[in-house]
Amino acid sequence: MKLTIHHLYANMMNLYGDRGNVISIKKRCEWRGIAVEVVDVDLGEKIRPTGCDIFLFGGGQDREQALLVEDLSGSKGADLRAIADDGGVILGVCGGYQLMGHSYETPEGDRLSGVGIFDLRTEPRKPHEERLIGNVIVRVGLPDGSERELVGFENHGGRTRLGDVEPLGYVVLGHGNNGEDGTEGARRDNCYGTYLHGSLLPKNPWFTDLLIESAIRRVDDSFKLEPLDDSAEQAAFAAAVERARGRR
Ligand code: GLN
Repeated sequence: MKLTIHHLYANMMNLYGDRGNVISIKKRCEWRGIAVEVVDVDLGEKIRPTGCDIFLFGGGQDREQALLVEDLSGSKGADLRAIADDGGVILGVCGGYQLMGHSYETPEGDRLSGVGIFDLRTEPRKPHEERLIGNVIVRVGLPDGSERELVGFENHGGRTRLGDVEPLGYVVLGHGNNGEDGTEGARRDNCYGTYLHGSLLPKNPWFTDLLIESAIRRVDDSFKLEPLDDSAEQAAFAAAVERARGRR
């Protein structure tokens, strides 16, 4: 069994080092002896699922987002919706997250069509409003009733409004989707969207492992990911949370 990481628009949508998300998944698989391959999926290239996959869609400025909207409007967007509907594991960060919704409108009034995986829309900030920037801590509720925290940082102008979709979690510190309703990100089945850069996954090893286990369970539903002796990563996570708490 091999896990394939599909890195969507790897060179265009890699704001604030979101490529670190690919590295984190790869390393946490390799440390466990799980075979893993990274496939970059650029403009005009078809998505080729293998059955054991994680799809990553990183952040990007308005310009990059506009450049890839046409590519998403065709079969690639339909393929991503089908993957999402079938329980595929997809993580979108910031600009990638915004385009997993119905639309993203730029401050110039250009309405970019999204893929429609999440029932949400992103509007531009009003002229008097600032970009939403800073450290973020998010409280995430898990299916077993437990709660975990995610830590990262955000830097976005867009204000995301959720429709009929669950948030990824609720803001403990920072702004989140729109700086008003306390929600951060979105979640639907094994699809996740978030504004957290960091990059996100190296800072939050528990979430990396959740994505890996979810992807492998699609081919082996009894699979259980063995814990890692990653005390250094866990210490780094705790330190990042404390730093974020200390610097509002
Ligand atoms: N261009 C989008 C915005 O400003 C997303 C930015 C990002 O990916 N960090 O809201």
